Amino acid sequence: MDFSLKNKRAVLFDMDGVLYDSMPSHVSAWVRALAEFGYNMSVLDVYLNEGCTGAQTIRSISEREGKGEVSDEDIQRMYARKTELFMQLPQVNMMPGALEVMRKAAAGGLQIQVVTGSGTGGLIERVQRDYEGYVVRPLMVTAFDVKRGKPYPDPYLKALEIGGITADEAVVVENAPLGIRAARAAGIDVIAVNTGPLDDAILLREGPVGLFNSMQELADSLKV
Ligand code: CA
Repeated sequence: MDFSLKNKRAVLFDMDGVLYDSMPSHVSAWVRALAEFGYNMSVLDVYLNEGCTGAQTIRSISEREGKGEVSDEDIQRMYARKTELFMQLPQVNMMPGALEVMRKAAAGGLQIQVVTGSGTGGLIERVQRDYEGYVVRPLMVTAFDVKRGKPYPDPYLKALEIGGITADEAVVVENAPLGIRAARAAGIDVIAVNTGPLDDAILLREGPVGLFNSMQELADSLKV
């Protein structure tokens, strides 16, 4: 399938699982960190919660595990440990094909923005170097810029606001069900890219306009 960006003015990229092949490292860090605190978090749990802030993820796992309310202090300790374990892992690679998608979009005159639930400083800094000339901090939205993360529409609404564009003028590239839900809640068309282990159906039921199986496949199909 060919996908056209005609009539669009901006592409909003999610980061983990879209611009970086970082989800396997997040999975490893989450599963180990939460196990240390007595929680049983599975690989699929990580992918199903992807896009949420760390605090929201911990709250939903705690509820699912029947452990009830978690104090803000405990949440901070758990998320700090998860971040620490993530940083100890080998540096993650850029997602194959992602730079080409960005280059094509920029060549077509589209504005590039990154919208991530991540609060992990390392990648937020790195993305500006790895995607230099395309990604700039003033047009990025991170966990530090909004109170409510995905699946609330807030990060995407913030991106529209700072980007000076309307929902109709934007298109989002997302790999996570809750990320797609957030963008749809903001009224924005979404291209789903299934770079993880979830069934396509789980992403498709959130209502993307199309689904690709890799960023390279999207790059090959993109018309601007
Ligand atoms: Ca993602």
